Amino acid sequence: MHTQLVVIGGGPGGYAAAFLAADEGMDVVLVEAEGKLGGTCLLRGCIPSKALLHVARVVSEAEEMQADWGVSFGEPKIELDKLRERKNKVISNLTGGLGGLAKKRKIKVVKGFAKFVDANTISLEGDDESIPAGKQVTFDNAIIATGSVPAMPGAFNIGNDRVMDSTGALNLADIPETMLVIGGGYIGLEMGTVYANLGTKVSVVELQGGLLMGADRDLVKPLAKKLDKLFEKRIFLNTKVGSVSKAGDDKVEVTFEGPGKFGSEKFDRVLVSVGRWPNTKNIGLENLPGVEVDGRGFIAHNDDLRTACPNVFVIGDAAGEPMLAHKANHEGRHAVEVILGHATTFDRQAIPAVVFTDPEIAWAGITEEEAKRDGVNHEVVTYPWAASGRAQALGRTEGLTKWLVDPESERVIGCGIVGPGAGELVAEATLAIEMGCEVRDITETVHAHPTLGETMMNAAEVFYGTATEVYKPKKK
Ligand code: NAD
Repeated sequence: MHTQLVVIGGGPGGYAAAFLAADEGMDVVLVEAEGKLGGTCLLRGCIPSKALLHVARVVSEAEEMQADWGVSFGEPKIELDKLRERKNKVISNLTGGLGGLAKKRKIKVVKGFAKFVDANTISLEGDDESIPAGKQVTFDNAIIATGSVPAMPGAFNIGNDRVMDSTGALNLADIPETMLVIGGGYIGLEMGTVYANLGTKVSVVELQGGLLMGADRDLVKPLAKKLDKLFEKRIFLNTKVGSVSKAGDDKVEVTFEGPGKFGSEKFDRVLVSVGRWPNTKNIGLENLPGVEVDGRGFIAHNDDLRTACPNVFVIGDAAGEPMLAHKANHEGRHAVEVILGHATTFDRQAIPAVVFTDPEIAWAGITEEEAKRDGVNHEVVTYPWAASGRAQALGRTEGLTKWLVDPESERVIGCGIVGPGAGELVAEATLAIEMGCEVRDITETVHAHPTLGETMMNAAEVFYGTATEVYKPKKK
């Protein structure tokens, strides 16, 4: 079989690339070892975790209602089978939809494991009937979109399903009485939030001195305060896990070495969320002349996602940080545009990041810490949500919206938000940064009242010292 484009991997990077290429008239083969489209994001990542975080949010809001507003719904009763079924239905609806869309676009989806034989051929492992006779496909161009897997360091990998990665945690085998989360990053805090709201006593151990170290500290502070309560003050920072071992049939014993916690403790379950490893082993990269991987396994490429083999591209988690579905999606589309010979660029400055905890944290463009580290001339303007009528009405005054502005050009170069819905609000900032907006463009845009979106405009007004609800005169 020969094709103009072979895409290896059917996640949000791979299927976006394959669909665009087909829409543009290319003949496309999409190889996906699992058969189902969606990748980690849809099948065992972003989407199922968001379904469970929705449930967590309703439970916590119901509790807040009772504590703060005098409205009581009683203790939640959780039917785990039904909850799991509903989450799985969300996945099957979406993966089924993608399969249908691939069919309509006449993309040949092959269920098999692809390996490069040379720069124009892949071999296919597997016995699915979708695999062509000869088990090989030759191609003009290839896009590697193989994604990543949860990192499971050897010391934690004790062959016991009580020690889970994110996939195991999303399977919701039970609601354990106690759970230790190793790693206070995106996954640990999102899944910790889910389990804690379902009734588990969650502890978090983090090697570094703070949670979510990639985010600005002022954004993390309100979240850390809330999690301290939700996790019952059991967040152990600057602490190393010494060992993990099986203790009887239903416990895992963990030893800690750190100022936050020392000694050992038993847990019903342990979630290991210490990062992800790119899937770049065993795909025959050694058969692609000049193609290199770095120490973490990311495939070297240029700004156009082209590897040392000019007809082979790499996108998404296999290409490098940030390992985010929306970055993969845009890279996939960019690679296809490059293959088609279109004039195209991909502006990396405006890739938003969202942590879907409660409150959510979101940022786009440069962070304050990056600006300080890299000596980027910047001014920071912040708007505390305590001044927002809508935040007051929601009882969520812990939020904060801030812009980073280049004081010379008055262009917005970064934005950070913490508060419920931050992940939605950051879209405005992403567009503003992408378009090279000046702060004035944001202040002159009429934002609906009363909304949390208004805080984007209000924070921008602070730059000129003219925000209506806060008194922060501009320094002369
Ligand atoms: P992460 O990089 O966000 O966090 C890992 C954390 O583990 C870090 O804080 C690190 O210091 C800590 N750590 C590492 N080794 C440790 C050890 N031995 N003991 C204790 N702590 C240790 O990684 P993650 O949470 O596993 O998520 C992986 C990737 O998946 C993220 O980088 C992100 O790109 C993606 N992701 C994104 C979202 C989202 O967009 N909302 C959600 C989940 C995952």
